[in-house]
Amino acid sequence: MKNNCDMARDLMPLTIDGVASEASRNYVNEHLEECEACRAYLAGMKAALDDNSQRAAQEKKSFDQTAARMKHRRFFRKVAILLTALTLAFGALFAGTMLYNQLRMELPSENCQVSLTQLKNGQVVVMVTTSGEKPCVGYGVSEKREQDGSYVMQLIMETYRFGHKLKAEETKPVANILTKVSLDGIDRIEYGGDKAVCWEKGDAITPASAEMEAYYKACDDLDAYERQLAAAHGATHYDMTSDEAKQWAELLLAIREAKAAVPEWIGLDALVGARYTPPMGMG
Ligand SMILES: [Zn+2]
Repeated sequence: MKNNCDMARDLMPLTIDGVASEASRNYVNEHLEECEACRAYLAGMKAALDDNSQRAAQEKKSFDQTAARMKHRRFFRKVAILLTALTLAFGALFAGTMLYNQLRMELPSENCQVSLTQLKNGQVVVMVTTSGEKPCVGYGVSEKREQDGSYVMQLIMETYRFGHKLKAEETKPVANILTKVSLDGIDRIEYGGDKAVCWEKGDAITPASAEMEAYYKACDDLDAYERQLAAAHGATHYDMTSDEAKQWAELLLAIREAKAAVPEWIGLDALVGARYTPPMGMG
């Protein structure tokens, strides 16, 4: 009996898995019919196996939940990192702007002199001359509508708030020229950090000298020639022929000579150039 039980019990796992031979299956079944102990043993074995598979399923489920939680956590981690990065970026921008505003200031109007000259075509040449111990490190123009409805053009001349004092030999006046501005619709022009007024609608404007007219005529001639070349080459970027280059150079030279002859600008370290581009889209 004991040997039969051992053999039947050895074969049980194979019969449960369905891999036992027919002879083995018959042997186990016949033995189970006459042996209560082995029936109980088999029942216990099946229960243990069920239990195991349930536990495995449970573990798998738990694993899946943990994985999902981790995935969520990773997602929120990414969001948190992104938000932190954005916050830092905006913070840096804000701090940078604050610092910039702290480090820069507009020159007071007493360090700036503005003169207006009107060309025959109605356009106005605005010249700002700055002087003093502080260098002018940024020119700009902005326009704004005031609360009373007036439209104001502001000339902005920036300098460093701290330090940066010029040596005596460096403090000669420096001019910045806004070429050919239209004052249509503008009620007044303000300048300097204290917003002094240098022109109001109706104020007379000095007519330009013949030499200044000639200078701008020479600039227009070069512009016209460049447009002509671009049209001839059918492109904005092209190689000039040697004849074209020669004529182009002559026009450029004419501008330089015309500029040197303008009485309004003589003696100034003027930033007006042959190809001067006014700041902030003016001109
Ligand atoms: Zn038995």
